[in-house]
Amino acid sequence: MLGFIKSVEQIILRVALDTPLDTTFDYAWIVPDPDQHPILRPSIGQLVIVPFGRQEVAGIVLAIAEKTDVPPNKLRTVLALRSELSPVSPQWLALCQFAAEYYQRPIGEVALPSLPKNLKALKDVSLRRGLNKLEKLSTAQDSVPAEEPRLNPEQQTAVNAITAKNDFAPFLLFGVTGSGKTEVFLQASAKILAQSDDAQVLILVPEINLTPQFEAHIRARFPGLILATLHSGMAEGERLLHWLSAHTGRARIVLGTRLAMLASLPHLRLIIVDEEHDPSYKQQEGLRYSARDLAVWRARQLAIPVVLGSATPSLESWQSARSGKYHLLELHERAVPDAVLPVVKLINLEREKPSEGLTPRLIDSIRLRLEKGEQSLLFLNRRGYAPVLACDACGWISNCTRCTAHMVMHKGDHRLRCHHCGLEQRIPRHCPTCGNIDLQPLGRGTQRMEESLGAIFPEAKVLRIDADSTRLKGSAAAAFDRVHSGEVDILIGTQMVAKGHDFKHLTLVAALNPDAALFSQDYRASERLFAQLMQVAGRAGRAAKKTDGNPSEVLIQTRYPDHPLYHALMAHDYPSFAADLLEERQQAHMPPFMYQALLRAEAKELSIAIDFLKQAASSLHHVGITINDPIPMTMTRVANVDRAQLLVESVSRPALQAFVKEWITILRAMKSRVRWSVEIDPVDI
Ligand code: ADP
Ligand code: ZN
Ligand code: ZN
Repeated sequence: MLGFIKSVEQIILRVALDTPLDTTFDYAWIVPDPDQHPILRPSIGQLVIVPFGRQEVAGIVLAIAEKTDVPPNKLRTVLALRSELSPVSPQWLALCQFAAEYYQRPIGEVALPSLPKNLKALKDVSLRRGLNKLEKLSTAQDSVPAEEPRLNPEQQTAVNAITAKNDFAPFLLFGVTGSGKTEVFLQASAKILAQSDDAQVLILVPEINLTPQFEAHIRARFPGLILATLHSGMAEGERLLHWLSAHTGRARIVLGTRLAMLASLPHLRLIIVDEEHDPSYKQQEGLRYSARDLAVWRARQLAIPVVLGSATPSLESWQSARSGKYHLLELHERAVPDAVLPVVKLINLEREKPSEGLTPRLIDSIRLRLEKGEQSLLFLNRRGYAPVLACDACGWISNCTRCTAHMVMHKGDHRLRCHHCGLEQRIPRHCPTCGNIDLQPLGRGTQRMEESLGAIFPEAKVLRIDADSTRLKGSAAAAFDRVHSGEVDILIGTQMVAKGHDFKHLTLVAALNPDAALFSQDYRASERLFAQLMQVAGRAGRAAKKTDGNPSEVLIQTRYPDHPLYHALMAHDYPSFAADLLEERQQAHMPPFMYQALLRAEAKELSIAIDFLKQAASSLHHVGITINDPIPMTMTRVANVDRAQLLVESVSRPALQAFVKEWITILRAMKSRVRWSVEIDPVDI
């Protein structure tokens, strides 16, 4: 053995680097003399530092080769092996390889960005410090775990099914908010974790900061185990520590947002995706992956169970459950005894005229809650004071000069702000075109509602929660604490307030103006609206609290009280809503019955982008692939860049994959001034 190593002077490492070039790179590793050095041999999955151009960068060893095509005088040498870090597993590399091929990006662009920055940094100091800190963390704490509630029969069936065998099994756990899905996740995890000393469980959530209760539950239930969390809001040092604890297998539970899907987890035995329909599982730039789809792939690869949970599953997952690809697990009832589903009622805006955005009936309902000391939550998915500022005299409106969008009025700091490109200016004192000083805010955002609510209910404590009110770190958590403590009477907010919070004193939820999404050009808008309304409605009546023996109420102000979406909502009937949508989709040949890829182009002028797309459209033809006409994007101009898109479709996923692979090579060769990108399974089109 030793003799063999001695006779080899150098070996070739095939390395992945974070570059847009779709290739791997060969480097030489000079094997040290084993008589003088400890035997140091690189292995596959090892992190290395290599020269690249004039830089020194991190790479991952993909293969060890005997020979290379790189001429000896061009072949550069590996600078360092990060041997204190155990290599990433072949399974993890295979996951990256799959994601790279499926989403049509180089493997280096998948694998390296998913590692913490400090890990890739050239100094070993932070890594060593991280590992030391981890030692301490690993030997900390053990206290008594919180008691598990007794599962109801449906929950028990679900836990049994999920933990039945050590093999690939995809589950869709479908149940209204409060039906006890989280409890199923926790008890299934407990069983899997108890099956071996090293088993790891990965739990994905859309947003960690908005749902601190989940983390608290896990900590209380598994006090002796190390929990790692991974999300984009973490400081680099912290992120490194948590990543390392997952990678070294010390963390037995990893709770994270979509990026945690690409964490290195050597003993992964169960994957859970909570709120699997949530749009945040899809990355919208760079590697545009779907963490939910990768979860299912990874579970198959590792032959382990994966559970997708939702009260309003994505149509993709619902269809997979209907067709038998996924096992459907259903929870029909709310889990807390006595907690009943809130009653959903519509308020017809054509008949009941609102003032300040609130109908008399809604105002009465809020007043009733105030008298009883209960809370109300008003949902309005539009931040700012007013979406537009306008001049009655000449028709001027506050358009953004750089985007196809209005500038939103923010009253508190006297600003007009474009929510798309960030352009800001002071609110003009008079009309920029005609000089009229009487400019009118049109429409209503959360700030304006907050102001109106204060005027209508001067005795009430009103709190607004949206991206503007929670800009400071920790402020969202502080705001939610105020709601939980019961200090707040009326909560007004955007979709931020719809996520997993369990407000015990809340008995009224109202959607002020949800209609816009019914007629959106985006064919997924109604699916999303239904999910949002179900989710926000689910904030009400989670505890067993009742108003005069009546269940909690959800009021929806609408001009379209006959719309089937609202009827399905009143009946709490996701399955029939989904059945209708799926039938529409099938007839219209849309996903999930069709696979899509989207080519986007950006240029200084729309015609340049469109010309590029036309050329792209005629550059390749395959049987079974439909290439649509190039069109401008709905919001054509953002930050002075015009954007257009071209949709490619097929009923066959492999056929589409083959087409796109070949197509990208052609597109790369087309010398063009446009910036373009291809997205597989696009969601925003
Ligand atoms: P979901 O995740 O479906 O919204 P949760 O798991 O958060 O629902 O459960 C809602 C509430 O019901 C929580 O307060 C939880 O503690 C409680 N709960 C869940 N399962 C049970 C059970 N089997 N018995 C009693 N309470 C339960
Ligand atoms: Zn004017
Ligand atoms: Zn703009």
